[in-house]
Amino acid sequence: MTNCDVLIIGGGLLGCFAARELSRYELNTVLIEAREDVCTGISRANTAIVYSGYDTAPNTLKTEMCLRANRGFAALCGELGVRFVRCGSLMISLGQRGDAVLRKKYEQGLINGVEGLQLLSGEEVRALEPALTENVTMGLLSPTTGTVNPWELGIAAYENAAANGADFRFGERVISIERLDGGYEAKTDKERYFARFIINCGGLFSDSIREMCASPLVRIFPKRGDYLVFDKSEGGILSRVIFHEPEQKGKGLTAVPTVDGNLLIGPSELPFEGEADFSTTEEGLESLLSLCDEVLPSLDKSRLIRSFGTLRPNPFYIEPSDDGSYTRDKKGISSFTILSDGDGSFLSFIGIKTPGLTCSRELGKYAASAAAAYLSAEENPNFNPIRIPSPNLAHASAEERIAAAAKNPLYGRIVCRCAGISEGEIVDAIHRGATTLDAVKRRAGTGMGRCQGGFCSTRIMEILSRELGKPISEIMKDGPDSFLTGGGRDDGI
Ligand SMILES: Cc1cc2nc3c(=O)[nH]c(=O)nc-3n(C[C@H](O)[C@H](O)[C@H](O)COP(=O)(O)OP(=O)(O)OC[C@H]3O[C@@H](n4cnc5c(N)ncnc54)[C@H](O)[C@@H]3O)c2cc1C
Repeated sequence: MTNCDVLIIGGGLLGCFAARELSRYELNTVLIEAREDVCTGISRANTAIVYSGYDTAPNTLKTEMCLRANRGFAALCGELGVRFVRCGSLMISLGQRGDAVLRKKYEQGLINGVEGLQLLSGEEVRALEPALTENVTMGLLSPTTGTVNPWELGIAAYENAAANGADFRFGERVISIERLDGGYEAKTDKERYFARFIINCGGLFSDSIREMCASPLVRIFPKRGDYLVFDKSEGGILSRVIFHEPEQKGKGLTAVPTVDGNLLIGPSELPFEGEADFSTTEEGLESLLSLCDEVLPSLDKSRLIRSFGTLRPNPFYIEPSDDGSYTRDKKGISSFTILSDGDGSFLSFIGIKTPGLTCSRELGKYAASAAAAYLSAEENPNFNPIRIPSPNLAHASAEERIAAAAKNPLYGRIVCRCAGISEGEIVDAIHRGATTLDAVKRRAGTGMGRCQGGFCSTRIMEILSRELGKPISEIMKDGPDSFLTGGGRDDGI
């Protein structure tokens, strides 16, 4: 049995930031993640926007956190060595209905205290973003919106938390929780833990984790979403994040020029039933392509290099009956759903949606303060907020590359040709915890170019095999049983 003060369940953005914020206190913290890496759930598949705070209702925890988070985002990314671009956003409309929505959002933004908001005419919008359709009638400019790579942020929070003493356990799934005197016993498929405080950051599964030792109150009813990623050749057609408010009922287009230089489009919104998986749908992808025609007519659609799916964890209040059935509220919960059970020592973040990425540090602080107050914890005098990232040579000059290769010849050996990533950067990623092909991608940026890993994947698998001392047949793409060769057979066939 492992004893700890605080047990965090789930290593998405929320869990990683809860661990980082807890490491500011003298507390023994363990984080359990079912998968082999952090940020493989919703934190991997989202829109990557740092919201400015005009889109949420005044005087709510969500808005308060979003405003605070946005103002502090550049400083946070500076501490963690994470790229962040404050590119601004334009919400656009193509007719009267949309114009009215934009005026309302503008008023709401003023009440919320969002800085720099401006309503623009269609012509002014097109002067700023010429790739947009000529049919734009109005725009809401928000200069403080930004974009970040979500998994780069989560990995940085994880590394900083681990450097400050938090203990991360991967590949273990919590299967039961029992309330005992003075704490909880949590069982995983590998170990038993005793914790005085539990923070449930289980994302799509946070409702069932909570119900391991609390009565049903809120359940998650996911919806599907699809995304498109366009090549870097298209990334420059927009300078800002675009939100399109459609004239007809339904979801408009969101377009993000990412920190990596690609153009991200999505998400679509479709119903969902069944086992949680992140597959894409033909219907969703087609709806996004047709929205591109309407909003970004000059986009070269032949430059589409990837699509991916996600699930929105929509929480609803439920009313359970004695026979095990339940009725569900008509409307989902729009606020952040944070539930506190067991005399305040079991905190659950249930299905935290947008702007959860923006607020991940604020939510982490919230959890850490609750645990520290409950456990009367002292501050950790040795906490160091700074994380030094590994060298990223993709944008380095020839001189910088030569200097790096002179110190370590592996920095001179290019493996990912599309993005110019060297063997040295891949080895750094593995030495910092990557054990799968996609974990290397999330750290070093490999396989994200035009060939999508077509040329470099086998080479990276060889490097993973060499560095981890594992046969190549055991190297996974991402997650359990995602064999790349041979389904686990020793001969690798
Ligand atoms: C479509 C979409 C777009 C979004 N876009 C934005 C955006 O642009 N900007 C923004 O601010 N926010 C955005 N968000 C919100 C943001 O992405 C989420 O709030 C955030 O990523 C949630 O992180 P999480 O840690 O709660 O969940 P996750 O990242 O899903 O992490 C949960 C983790 O718990 C683990 N787990 C589950 N069960 C167990 C168990 N029993 N034992 C151990 N581990 C377990 C899972 O493996 C997983 O790794 C978006 C959300 C969605 C759905």
